[in-house]
Amino acid sequence: MKLIVRSPEAAAMQMDQLKAIFTGRDGASVWTEAPTSDDEELHERVANARRKARRSSAKGKRPPEGQNDVKRARGSSERFVRDPNVIAWVLEQAAGSCDACGDKAPFQRDDGEPYLEVHHVRPLAEGGTDTVDNAVACCPDCHRHLHHGTGRGMLRQSLLERLGRLKDWPQKPIA
Ligand SMILES: [Zn+2]
Ligand SMILES: [Zn+2]
Repeated sequence: MKLIVRSPEAAAMQMDQLKAIFTGRDGASVWTEAPTSDDEELHERVANARRKARRSSAKGKRPPEGQNDVKRARGSSERFVRDPNVIAWVLEQAAGSCDACGDKAPFQRDDGEPYLEVHHVRPLAEGGTDTVDNAVACCPDCHRHLHHGTGRGMLRQSLLERLGRLKDWPQKPIA
């Protein structure tokens, strides 16, 4: 199948997402939310993806493809275009507890969801992928610790050892 894609939204989508849309078939995956660099939009799409995942009991089954090639959005401040399906899957797996310290989320969001942040073990800015083998859900304390704390290398290492799905992606220069 050959497609000429004109919309930037569609250009950011995975091939199987596009196929699902054009063939009207559900496809093999429930992870059909398109990546976006808009925070509010991302939050909404994460909620959509989690709803879909819960309905189809996809939780714990095949994770989303994610993005090996993460784009930056053009604008005054450059931002990464993130995959809501990856965030949704990681949050569903965590089920309300921090992947780093094991504690329950410290508070809830307005929508009643436990507040956890999704962190890239190899940061996107260091060329990390936006995939479930590079993402964890953590409480705000652990998230800050992973970015700014002394001993963050050890905390990162313990995540890699404890969560079997994680891969130690190498640091690489990004375009
Ligand atoms: Zn924590
Ligand atoms: Zn982070």
